[in-house]
Amino acid sequence: MTTIVNVMGEEREYEIRRLADVPTGSKCVIVKIGGHGGLRHRLMEMGFVRGETLTVIKNAPLSDPIEYQILQSRVSLRRSEAQKIDVIELTDSNLADLTKDSDQKEYYGTFVEEYDNDKLLSEKIREVSHTITVALVGNPNCGKTSFFNHATGLHEKVGNYGGVTVDIKTGIFYHKGYTIRLVDLPGTYSINEYSPEELCVREYLSRNEHDLILNIVDSSNLERNLFLTTQLIDMNTPMVMALNMFDEFQANGDKFDYKTFSTMLGFPIVPTTASKGTGIPEVLQAIIDVFENKKDITHHIHINYGNDIEDAISAVKKEIEENKDIINKYPSRYLAISALENVKHTTAELGELPNGKAILDIAQRNREHLEKHHKEAIDTQISNARYGFVRGALKQTLVSNKNNTKRWKAFRADELLTNRWLGLPVLLVFMWLMFQCTFTIGAYPQEWLDMFVGWLGGVVRDLLPAGVLNDLIVDGIIGGVGAVISFLPNILILFLFISIMEDTGYMARAAFMMDKLFHKFGLHGRSFIPYIMGFGCAVPAIMATRTLENRKDRLVTVLTIPFMSCSARLPVYLILIGTFFPHNQGLVMMSLYLFGVVVAVLTAKVLSKTVFRSVSEEFVMELPPYRVPTLRNVLIHMWDKSAQYLKKMGTVILAASIIIWALEYFPRNSASEQLVAQQIEQTESTPESDIFTADVKAAAIDSLTQLQAAVHSENSFVGRFGHLIEPVVRPCGFDWHIGVALCTGIAAKEIVVSTLGVLYQSGDTETEEGETSLQAKLLEQRWPEGSIDAGKPIYSPLMAYAFMIFVLLSAPCIATLAAIKREAGWGWVFFTLIYTVLLAWLCSMLVFQIGGLI
Ligand code: GDP
Ligand code: MG
Repeated sequence: MTTIVNVMGEEREYEIRRLADVPTGSKCVIVKIGGHGGLRHRLMEMGFVRGETLTVIKNAPLSDPIEYQILQSRVSLRRSEAQKIDVIELTDSNLADLTKDSDQKEYYGTFVEEYDNDKLLSEKIREVSHTITVALVGNPNCGKTSFFNHATGLHEKVGNYGGVTVDIKTGIFYHKGYTIRLVDLPGTYSINEYSPEELCVREYLSRNEHDLILNIVDSSNLERNLFLTTQLIDMNTPMVMALNMFDEFQANGDKFDYKTFSTMLGFPIVPTTASKGTGIPEVLQAIIDVFENKKDITHHIHINYGNDIEDAISAVKKEIEENKDIINKYPSRYLAISALENVKHTTAELGELPNGKAILDIAQRNREHLEKHHKEAIDTQISNARYGFVRGALKQTLVSNKNNTKRWKAFRADELLTNRWLGLPVLLVFMWLMFQCTFTIGAYPQEWLDMFVGWLGGVVRDLLPAGVLNDLIVDGIIGGVGAVISFLPNILILFLFISIMEDTGYMARAAFMMDKLFHKFGLHGRSFIPYIMGFGCAVPAIMATRTLENRKDRLVTVLTIPFMSCSARLPVYLILIGTFFPHNQGLVMMSLYLFGVVVAVLTAKVLSKTVFRSVSEEFVMELPPYRVPTLRNVLIHMWDKSAQYLKKMGTVILAASIIIWALEYFPRNSASEQLVAQQIEQTESTPESDIFTADVKAAAIDSLTQLQAAVHSENSFVGRFGHLIEPVVRPCGFDWHIGVALCTGIAAKEIVVSTLGVLYQSGDTETEEGETSLQAKLLEQRWPEGSIDAGKPIYSPLMAYAFMIFVLLSAPCIATLAAIKREAGWGWVFFTLIYTVLLAWLCSMLVFQIGGLI
């Protein structure tokens, strides 16, 4: 393991080793003592403190204990204890590194020989070891990510509903000479093992990579937030608490003597308003103080579970303490409580110990005794005791504002927004508004961008000499990427709405309202949030399903998310709806989104009736108070989206455009193409006469040139492939161009549009007022001679709708398939591919055929 540390304002990388792995004879300096509070305390008493130098006297691979020389005395440590100590080995090279570039170079130069007694080196190492790893732990929606973002300056996603952070993110920054690594963990209400997040947090904490925990609590909801705190206290790690949402707390008029509370709990408590960044410097100072072990700041307390439970804990603990190794990993009291509560992972781990059976037996006996005696499940008893502790502590310190009407003000909007009758219509109106704005407001910047692309195509066409390069740039790159890029403004507007929905707390309401409906279809109300996220992009949405507790719910949700219309499909809709449904844009768009939701829900129903047969659990969804979204969050969110979109343009879409262009461009000059070329030449050389006037001649040449382009296109590689698949897509009303575009769309959905842009060579088309170049091209397309519909336009509103349905339902893009693979495995990837393509074909065929009859 290496670590990046800040030495005198400069980042350097050092190799950090576990003391247990350092061979006999080596000298090293301690950079960190890990482990839980009890173990740290013991090690420090023996002289193992940060910055101390020690020598390994005897360490063979399997020997236990290991012997060390420290502070003139010899001590031996168990291997499991030495595992918890991080050191930098003092080799010549890193000594030189530690001392180079310093003002005191010469001075260091002389002392390198006699370093182990020199104080300066130890100071230096202290500086090196100023890396503090802080684990952010707290309930969902308490402001962890806001804190993380403000402290680190990174842009994590912040949202006003539970379960936004689904995996662990780390941010590193410097503060007052310290390197602070903040680790943003998923939000949890407790750390047993009931959900993937709980497991994730528990697992992270038990790895002991963190130096301390920053417990963020929502101060307007102390009682519930502090429940988790009681569990953290049992884990006995150094801790700091941020009393977040302090602005709201104060606005409520409540009074909290948090200083007294802090002494009662034994760690510093700092009020913060993470969304504005207030209090964060004070929290960082508290973190440094705790890390540096400043006197009298922290002490470890025990939560008293009452005599009966305490007796049981002692009995189990005594047996556990027979094993020195495991108690170096976790505090024995914590293990004993978990064993009593019958936490699966703990019992599994304990069961593997030499006296594992004895431990579990004692735990079992005590549990049965307690349950019989109190007529209550053991975890209820323990939870009650925890709540009792919290309530007791709050009773002495918290004075709630009795006549606080404000508290409910934040919820007043719910009377309308989650009203039994009006809630859903309001949601629908809101969604319609969102889509309508995406069109109408987005239309202006979109037109400017499109005009710019057209102008650029024309300029480049004239500037470069005619030839392959000219064609590549104008038709391939400008035509392909240009067709997609003009939709950036629309996408930004959609994301503006989504992030406002998330930040205000309305998204959580939407989930709440959907819960009942979703339940009927074998889905969990919580699935609604991943679904809505799927409107943005399916990849994070699929990751967000980790908040669902039961695997069946998760799989069903993962497999149906691709039917949520993601923002990459937006360009396809915008182009087609803009051309063929100019009067009902918002409505048609909403119908597509709803169609996707309906297909998803029905698919879920079918899946949960057949493949995954089990009942969905009840769920408690918290409704956070409404909040005014912060401009900062909204802007960050939008900026991230546009950066992502532009990146996709520059990579996947650019590459795909070039490839498709090349496949369409070659082979050149086939026999039939040459035949047409000859005809053109002949026509050109025919002298004009009374019958064959200049006008007739020009028209003839014009139609021959078009024929030449068509013949070329059909003969190209893409054309041949397209003709191969045309019979398959013909029942849906599609010609081969569309067939090809649908296939390339698997790489990314925007590529459907860029493929059309390339195939129709829209790079420098003349356009009418208010029309994009690609739209003009679509309207021009006709069925060729020889087909049943010869001469009729290929595109019609009906066919455009069928086309959009196909894009909506058919195989998700590669990134989504990869996400499905991660969450569900290869089998489900193939299932998704086959199922979605078949369904897409069936639906758009039905739309086209039945619509045609009507
Ligand atoms: P997480 O789930 O714990 O990561 O919480 P987030 O950081 O996503 O925040 C949840 C919501 O609370 C967001 O809408 C934030 O803007 C808001 N928020 C966070 N901290 C504060 C605060 O101190 N005061 C107020 N009023 N709102 C906050
Ligand atoms: Mg978060």
